[in-house]
Amino acid sequence: MPGSIAVVGSLNIDFITRTPRVPAGGETLEASSSDTGFGGKGANQAVACARLSRNSDGSTPADSKPIKVSMVGFVGEDSFGSDFISAMKETFIDTAHIQKVPGQKTGIANIIVEEKTGENRILFCPNANFSGGDQVKDLVPEDADVVVFQLEMPLAQVVHNIKLAHSKGKYVIMNPAPAQKLPDDLYQYIDCLIMNESEADILREAKEELKNEDLPQICEDFFKRGVPDLVVITLGAKGVYHSAKSRSSGHTPGRKAKVVDTTAAGDTFVGGLAVEIAKNGGKTPQSPESMIQFANSAAARTVEKPGAMAAIPWVNEL
Ligand code: ADP
Repeated sequence: MPGSIAVVGSLNIDFITRTPRVPAGGETLEASSSDTGFGGKGANQAVACARLSRNSDGSTPADSKPIKVSMVGFVGEDSFGSDFISAMKETFIDTAHIQKVPGQKTGIANIIVEEKTGENRILFCPNANFSGGDQVKDLVPEDADVVVFQLEMPLAQVVHNIKLAHSKGKYVIMNPAPAQKLPDDLYQYIDCLIMNESEADILREAKEELKNEDLPQICEDFFKRGVPDLVVITLGAKGVYHSAKSRSSGHTPGRKAKVVDTTAAGDTFVGGLAVEIAKNGGKTPQSPESMIQFANSAAARTVEKPGAMAAIPWVNEL
């Protein structure tokens, strides 16, 4: 039986322009270059799952088992939506659960990159991703062993489907990005919480920025809130800290990388860990150290290439 992952989340078209400086109000400025790409945290993480369980020709690595990856989300009834579905299929992702919403536009993100500083300014218009408003739908595929969520869908939709996935016995991974406070009673349904430092600070409503020496206690606090299995805090170039409840914990240093663009590093990490958990039948072992190492190595490769989705490696590129 192959393992199966479903990623429930956003699909956006990214419009990226690079500029020597940001235009002032009322000003028209010539940009240096532009790109259009498929993005959204959901779609990026689905691509990370697909690529990190396959070689670039779609074959399963010799020492591995096949993993089915499904994308679950909403696009518009426009050409962007059709193109998105084709692109997902080309990456060996099951698209049966991507719904085209009648009368809606596909979500977009306008990204302005100031070349001097590398700083991004992003205007995100969720469109179809938010089409249901607060009306929730059952989005969890029956055949998934592992279900991955982020927060680029309405919170009510995410909360409903995390509880649904839990009730169906799935392993639930939550990457609370972009971060917002979560309902207190939700943590008990999240098997694995993966977040970066600033997301951890928002979730725990911290008054001061997180310090390395506090990481064990911060993870402990998330277990007290109800997380039953694994808490992972990614630390950028410094790597990652993980704690498996009542089992193992520790810091995994970041891999040496020639940094070009750190976009999608976190999404790659989430995908890598989801693949490892799916390969293990939807559960984590006594010590998830080697799973963390795999995700950490994959994410370090992503920062060495420009772009978001385009930078996510296949297994044979690791
Ligand atoms: P996000 O991309 O969500 O902000 P992080 O910046 O914490 O998350 O990065 C996620 C993971 O990507 C890190 O835990 C690490 O594995 C990897 N990573 C990020 N930046 C670097 C870097 N400069 N060198 C090596 N690995 C990196």
